[in-house]
Amino acid sequence: MPVSGLPPYDDSNIFARILRGEIPSKTVYEDEWALAFHDINPQAPVHVLIIPKGKYCSFADFSAQASEAEIVGFTRAVGMVARQLGLETPGYRLLANLGEHGGQDVPHYHVHLFGGRPLGRMVARE
Ligand code: AMP
Repeated sequence: MPVSGLPPYDDSNIFARILRGEIPSKTVYEDEWALAFHDINPQAPVHVLIIPKGKYCSFADFSAQASEAEIVGFTRAVGMVARQLGLETPGYRLLANLGEHGGQDVPHYHVHLFGGRPLGRMVARE
């Protein structure tokens, strides 16, 4: 069941298609809970997307509906990807966009992992 007020999961979204192997991606990590791959339009020297394997539209959906095992598994996978990419010491940024104000384009929950240079302010001033 989707979270009240949010649209249902759309199986044709591009990350669902990547999970099904219909569209290629540059995989950097995969386990039971998560898939991580390079963003096609990187905004930093390292820009990786980490997505849960379950069908969740957004962080709101995932945080409310995912099992504890999925939440723990996904969270550990995010940490693992950052560690494996050598980003822990220089540091990195995690970002999850949600909805219109958050600027979410792809309706499958994903975390952006940015690194490889000092990343500046948290949110650009408009
Ligand atoms: P968001 O605005 O948070 O929904 O971010 C979606 C991200 O997905 C953007 O940074 C896109 O560059 C990225 N993206 C879209 N299509 C692909 C793809 N086929 N492979 C990798 N990244 C993609």
